Amino acid sequence: MFGRPRTIETEIGTEMRCAACLEYWPADPEFFAPQPGHARFSARCLACIRAGYWGTRQAPHFRALAMDT
Ligand SMILES: [Zn+2]
Repeated sequence: MFGRPRTIETEIGTEMRCAACLEYWPADPEFFAPQPGHARFSARCLACIRAGYWGTRQAPHFRALAMDT
C-alpha cells in the first residue's frame, strides 16, 4: 500500500483512494462523506461506510485478536 498516493489527479479531476476498498473515487460528496475537521472527506468511500466495510487488509488482524480471547 505504501507509495500509492491518497489522491490522484485524473482527466475528470481529483480522485481519492478509499481506505477500505482501495479504489479511487472522485473527491466529491457523492462518493465520500464530508468531514468537518482538517480532512475534507472521510477515509472510506460512502459505499464502504454504508456496508460497514473496513477492508480485507485488516480482517486477519481482527480475527487474530478475537482468537486470543
Ligand atoms: Zn470504499
